[in-house]
Amino acid sequence: MPLTPAIFPQLLEAISATLNDHAETVTELDQAIGDGDHVFNLQRGLEALQSHATEIANLDWPAAWQKIGMTVMAAIGGASGSLYATLFIALHKNSKDKPAGMQTFAEAFQLAVEAVKHRGKADVGEKTMLDVWVPVAKTLKQAVSEGKDLNAILDQVCTTAEVGVESTRDMLATKGRASFLGERSKGHIDAGAKTAQLMIAAIAQQIRSAS
Ligand code: ADP
Ligand code: MG
Repeated sequence: MPLTPAIFPQLLEAISATLNDHAETVTELDQAIGDGDHVFNLQRGLEALQSHATEIANLDWPAAWQKIGMTVMAAIGGASGSLYATLFIALHKNSKDKPAGMQTFAEAFQLAVEAVKHRGKADVGEKTMLDVWVPVAKTLKQAVSEGKDLNAILDQVCTTAEVGVESTRDMLATKGRASFLGERSKGHIDAGAKTAQLMIAAIAQQIRSAS
């Protein structure tokens, strides 16, 4: 069965559940090297998306990405709001008028992560969510191009995300609020990398159980 935005309400619920379960941990992480609002920012975005969930479920993917991006942009403050809005709007731009499917998604996703890099003027190695999204996009594109089956793709993506989060622990933050701490930013994983990994794990689990 092809994956359509009909799965969106389920994904939203699973993402909300995992962020709620880990809210305290993520807040502690963002308090250690940021200002502690990261999980609330994402929760505010998810709430806004909740009120459009049925509408989004009935769109095609490119239109769904656009609606998600615009909703997120209006609802989430902080660095993560504009970065996630950028990701979804770029997913829209790079998937519209292309055949629906994993190949288009994987290619559009990699370009969307490039757009986030550009927006945040950041790259891997700077202790941000990009330390998860960049390797995940690469793994996804490679696994899809190798014709791996869906479960294998999901497993690889989840493992890559876990490695990515852990890689942020000993990094020096050079972007975002954490960069104000200099050397003291070392020793804590990045909150935005952690929530990226949690969201990826929740999405993968929902897709596994739907397919
Ligand atoms: P703020 O830092 O404005 O309070 P959030 O707390 O919502 O925003 O998000 C913080 C997260 O955003 C960080 O943990 C980091 O992963 C990510 N981040 C911050 N600045 C950048 C950037 N320039 N590029 C990529 N990700 C960034
Ligand atoms: Mg913050």
